[in-house]
Amino acid sequence: MMKKILSLVLAVIMCFAVATTLISCGHEHEYKTEWSSDATNHWHDCTDPDCTEPADKAAHSWDAGTVKSFVDTEYACTVCGYKKTVSANTVVSATQWTAAMDLGENYTIYAKQFYPGEGSEVFVAKRAGNLFAFISEMYEEGETEASDVSYDYGKIDGEVYYNYYPQYDQNEQFIGYRVEASSQTVQENLDEVLGEFVPEPLRDMTKYTHNTTTGYYECAEMEYYGMTIQNIKLGFKEGKLVYGWFELAIGDGEAPSIAMDITYGGATVTLPTEDQIITQN
Ligand SMILES: [Zn+2]
Ligand SMILES: [Zn+2]
Repeated sequence: MMKKILSLVLAVIMCFAVATTLISCGHEHEYKTEWSSDATNHWHDCTDPDCTEPADKAAHSWDAGTVKSFVDTEYACTVCGYKKTVSANTVVSATQWTAAMDLGENYTIYAKQFYPGEGSEVFVAKRAGNLFAFISEMYEEGETEASDVSYDYGKIDGEVYYNYYPQYDQNEQFIGYRVEASSQTVQENLDEVLGEFVPEPLRDMTKYTHNTTTGYYECAEMEYYGMTIQNIKLGFKEGKLVYGWFELAIGDGEAPSIAMDITYGGATVTLPTEDQIITQN
């Protein structure tokens, strides 16, 4: 009986010993300094090629990303340097296209119009709920400081759209805002805002072809209020309109162009204070 128990104990000890050998490979690990990685994790391999016990294994820690193109953003692991490319979905259905043209209630449009040899004009349009701000800045050629800045505001109050028009004296000095209830409906005013940036002729999806390389919906040329515009591009990401570009083809000179970026969320608008309002109806 005693002998039987003893052999059982020995067997258990031997099993344990075998198991321990398998885990430790019977050597003291010496790890490589460079990282090994797969799509998910990084780790340090043992210098013994037969050893299957990596150290420091953890999931990648991604950086904020580097924009490589309209479609692709590259992310790098801040620990091991492993890189991955994430491609945005730039395709929209006809229904999504139409819905995307209504920008919603929280967005910022940054648009820049270039006039070759003259300078540029920057427009920033923001909507935060029922409040709007339109900021226009003129830049002379080569200047980084705006030569002229103007602010217009808007407010939706129930069914009424109010415009806040900046007023100037004879010396072009700003004197305050005239507030006026628009004779148009709220929707008409909203359409007008968007019309400044994505004019009606540009909104016809059937004129565009989706370019799978650039990610843009592109049209080589179209008529635009009696003029011809070229190289029209509209960009969508995850169903939202986020980019626009077109060039005016006037004469044989260099064409002015318009670039537009739209971001969503986080817009804030502060209306002028009471003492800046000179007339109201
Ligand atoms: Zn090892
Ligand atoms: Zn990593």
